[in-house]
Amino acid sequence: MTQEDAQKRKAPSPVKTKLDPQSPRPRRDLAPARIADLLDRLAKAQPNAECALVHRNAWELLVATILSAQCTDKRVNLVTPDLFRAFPTPAAMAQASLPELEELVRTTGFFRAKSKSIQGAGKVITEQFGGEVPRTLAQLITVPGAARKTANVVLGVAYGLAEGVVVDTHVQRLSKRLGLTRHDDPKKIERDLMRIIPRNRWIAFSHELILHGRAICVARKPRCAECPLETTCWAPDKTWRSH
Ligand code: SF4
Repeated sequence: MTQEDAQKRKAPSPVKTKLDPQSPRPRRDLAPARIADLLDRLAKAQPNAECALVHRNAWELLVATILSAQCTDKRVNLVTPDLFRAFPTPAAMAQASLPELEELVRTTGFFRAKSKSIQGAGKVITEQFGGEVPRTLAQLITVPGAARKTANVVLGVAYGLAEGVVVDTHVQRLSKRLGLTRHDDPKKIERDLMRIIPRNRWIAFSHELILHGRAICVARKPRCAECPLETTCWAPDKTWRSH
């Protein structure tokens, strides 16, 4: 054996740790069969899942979604009819005075910031997008008040375009409970979901998960005994388990 051969033999082989992101080893809870089963059960459990914000077009949905931050959809739906009667288009909203807007959206909370956002959104959409709510994520996130989550809602619900997955507080919570992500940051959660969920399910998936989070998988005491996902869920805080 040459000296070179001996050195090669002694060289330590690279060690792959559990946290190695390059590791090809599949995680049991992300197995395609399990994800497909979970999606199937979710769709059957929430067959009528859709956006609860009442709207007639992309502009109204954008405004309603901005107003829904830290507020219930029900409350937003009480406010928007008067708001859209007074300011029906982006151009009209851009011309509205802030005190007028604040009065109309006061009960949704954070009303000063929200008024500025919807007035600014009207202005940008009128001046930069010809009065039409843009159809790409890159353009939509330049509109005041429209961060990634809002943009994904508008693109998915108003235009049927799946550019991302809506990650609201329910999707955030349930994705962790179901072992679909280990992250807390919505952007990282969205990235994980986009990797494991087929694109043609992105839009419906978040509506279904939101409804499931409201009806069954509630924050404090999830109703596991009546949950159709129970056999495929390993959440540590389950209130009942069959396995
Ligand atoms: S089994 Fe329990 S924790 Fe798991 S998804 Fe259903 S309600 Fe949530």
